[in-house]
Amino acid sequence: MGMRIRLGPDGVHLFDRQSGLNVLLDEVTPPEHAWSAAPRQVSIAVTNACDLACSFCYAPKQPARLAVDRLLRWVDELDRAGALGLGFGGGEPTLYRHLPEVCAYAAENTDLAVTMTTHGHRWNADLVSRLRGAVNFVRVSVDGVGSTYERIRGRRFAQLRVALDTIAADFQWGMNAVVNEDTVDDLDAIAALAAEHGASELLLLPEQPTAGAPGVKQATLHTLERWVLTYPGPVRLATSADAALGVPIADALPSELGVRSYAHIDASGTARASSYAPSGVRIGEDGVMAALKQLAQMETA
Ligand code: SF4
Repeated sequence: MGMRIRLGPDGVHLFDRQSGLNVLLDEVTPPEHAWSAAPRQVSIAVTNACDLACSFCYAPKQPARLAVDRLLRWVDELDRAGALGLGFGGGEPTLYRHLPEVCAYAAENTDLAVTMTTHGHRWNADLVSRLRGAVNFVRVSVDGVGSTYERIRGRRFAQLRVALDTIAADFQWGMNAVVNEDTVDDLDAIAALAAEHGASELLLLPEQPTAGAPGVKQATLHTLERWVLTYPGPVRLATSADAALGVPIADALPSELGVRSYAHIDASGTARASSYAPSGVRIGEDGVMAALKQLAQMETA
């Protein structure tokens, strides 16, 4: 499998999943009929199960997990329709027993980049050996250090350090940090931890409002913006598309007309605009692309 070529209104997008290299040839505008129909990135919650209980968790709490045969069909479909990458999450994706099989399938049969977001505590030698070579980037959720981490995640911070070393030995990885009133004062220490364990990116995620939590306060967002401005560290910063912090966002290209740049599939098999979106389209026998098309039509109606 080689470099992915994706055509769209922005031009010709070349993407190499091994290195993460993106090249946009914007001197060329491909004809509309040739534009890729799939979102660039699709996050997939493979299971709602998680063995932690973080207060700001937005993962649905009713039990659900994706059937592996459906999931593999969607992987094929998204690959054929020009998606660049899949991001597996949950819940905790390592609790999904088919995860190694699905990642290996994507690595061997598609050009899709495979990433996943994990709390890290289930990564042992056996899991590493089954995921090695099949996962292009691992995102580890770390929102504080020391006692802040232990209070939020309910796991020992020392165990997290072991997990980070285990992951860093075999995978490119980055740290995801939910920023709120509880974690904002730990930002220096989080960045230092990321650097110490060899992370290549620190993704800052201002806490989103959910049914059970109000989300980050404005004053905390200002503190975060000031921190970003004076950040001297070696680890690259990134943020989510909806948090204008003056650092690169995961979706760096302008929106492609009529094509979602991002979509989320939840563990019950519903396609949504994002994991926070209150409604979506159930993926039926006609496949994931049909559901995404219907989702786009609902949004423009
Ligand atoms: S580790 Fe992630 S999925 Fe699990 S409870 Fe915490 S936020 Fe939710």
